Amino acid sequence: MTKRCPGCDQVKALDDFGRRTVAPDGRHPRCFACVTSYKVYWRQHRAEFAEKTSRRRMLVAQYKEVGMKLCSRCKEPRPIQAFLASRQHRDGLGKWCFSCRRVYWRGVSPRPRQDLRIVLSETEKAYIAGIVDGEGTVSIGFTSTHCARVYVANTNMKLIEWLQRRVGGRIKTVPRSHPNHKTVYYWRPSHRLALVLLGEIRPYLVIKDQQSELVVRFFRERDEARLQLGGKKFLFKENLLPQFASIVSDVRALNKRGVI
Ligand SMILES: [Zn+2]
Ligand SMILES: [Zn+2]
Repeated sequence: MTKRCPGCDQVKALDDFGRRTVAPDGRHPRCFACVTSYKVYWRQHRAEFAEKTSRRRMLVAQYKEVGMKLCSRCKEPRPIQAFLASRQHRDGLGKWCFSCRRVYWRGVSPRPRQDLRIVLSETEKAYIAGIVDGEGTVSIGFTSTHCARVYVANTNMKLIEWLQRRVGGRIKTVPRSHPNHKTVYYWRPSHRLALVLLGEIRPYLVIKDQQSELVVRFFRERDEARLQLGGKKFLFKENLLPQFASIVSDVRALNKRGVI
């Protein structure tokens, strides 16, 4: 029986390899000569390695004291706010700073971020506000995280399509089983789009102005709190904080009053 050693790249007899019961062939991957030479090398440079490690640890500790961390990609000290939360690392922070991540991910998927400016005339804003007031819902949704929700339900496809044309968002069609009931169309902008839209139409809202204000406030305060917590996007659970929970229940109460 022979085996190739990846260290010296030579084919040697199995007896030239040390025993290792957990390995499939019961032998160490590298030959005795390679293992020995590695041990000798390590012993000669042990002090050097130890010094290097302790120097790095001291540097990390020094930066940690002033709220900084060394980015492992650009090797620059960055404030801890510039790192994403990560449970895989002992310090709870990712390895790369935000600007390194941005550069990397731009290179991987060079997709321009969608421009979310909605261009509406004042008349259109007032008209959309009227539709949202009469036929719509403004609320805070929750799936894995919170999102701003604006719904408009109507049986007239023309109205729903106009909304999509002017603002964007998606249309959902819900057919009814009863022959006298018309098909209902739902229009729903995305979270970010909904927030931009609410900002535009809020002055014209009569019935849903309170909900809208709360929804906009919820996400403004949440994003501020996220930033203060160092952009720890994935560790931040806003529903556990009382001020956010109370906004969610306020919006719910307002919407309930409208239905009854
Ligand atoms: Zn070898
Ligand atoms: Zn970096």
